[in-house]
Amino acid sequence: MRTAGQYPGDREPLLLRAAAHLELAGDRPRATVLYDDLLSGSPENPQLIKALKAANLWEYGHEAEARAILDGIRALPPADAGAWQVAAEALEAHDELEAAQEVFSRAVEALVPSADDEVPYPAQSLLAGRHRVRRLLGLGHDDHDVLADRLHRGTVPLDELHDPKRVWALGSSDPAELAAEITRLRSELGTYRTALSRPFPVALLLWPTGELAELLAAYPELESEYPTHAEHLAGIEAALRELAAAGTPNLGVVRGTVPSYEAFAASEAASPANPTLLPQYATTLAARGRATPWPPLRTAPCWCGSDRPYAQCHGTP
Ligand SMILES: [Zn+2]
Ligand SMILES: [Zn+2]
Repeated sequence: MRTAGQYPGDREPLLLRAAAHLELAGDRPRATVLYDDLLSGSPENPQLIKALKAANLWEYGHEAEARAILDGIRALPPADAGAWQVAAEALEAHDELEAAQEVFSRAVEALVPSADDEVPYPAQSLLAGRHRVRRLLGLGHDDHDVLADRLHRGTVPLDELHDPKRVWALGSSDPAELAAEITRLRSELGTYRTALSRPFPVALLLWPTGELAELLAAYPELESEYPTHAEHLAGIEAALRELAAAGTPNLGVVRGTVPSYEAFAASEAASPANPTLLPQYATTLAARGRATPWPPLRTAPCWCGSDRPYAQCHGTP
């Protein structure tokens, strides 16, 4: 890959992104080649790459090989939330709900902190996946399901989203409605899998104060994008909350600098004054692994760089 060669430090996120694109485009054999290529080096997260490779293999008829890889992951104690999530969802996608539940549960027990602590995003994702599988199995709620409900941020409650018997509970016996419900559940599942196979977040571009001043001094055409620095920051938080409310998983913030933005514009043979370059620049930084996940924990420093806790800065309701 030419781009991966240009930026050796970014090789892993770039190749993972390329593999995700190949999977989405239906070229699963070439995605496998990329996963093997990554695994033959010394990847930062071999378990995640193995899980992605297994999920991909199973989708195009290599079930035995996929199962062997998943068994290998399950033989170790859970260390990486993403790897275990992908492994559980591969089983779930092939209707092995009992096995999926077991994988989710072991990961949740190992990786979700005790109740008083805040739960980081990857662990929340495990809780939500486990909640979904347990609903599909018709199991009652345990403490981790209650926690999953409490942490869920979407507009539709998790119990409604994950209840395969919802149509029956509403008193309907219309097979068309049931079919629609199953389709809806499957598409929700698809959304999760797509989000997971895209290993870089949807990121918004943050300009630190000094960088924004420098940017606007050099390219006053961009002033309409950024009336004040405070509005710039408030706009980022508002947009991220809107994306989260719409169910977009895996959100983040990337920091821009004027020299790197100018280099990006040059590589695109475009003027830095062109505002349509800004989101492309953000996506490129995110794909190169530069995004900070959003939201931060309530007690962690705010994403804006103020050094105040998120809950007392941009995280206030
Ligand atoms: Zn629930
Ligand atoms: Zn802030």
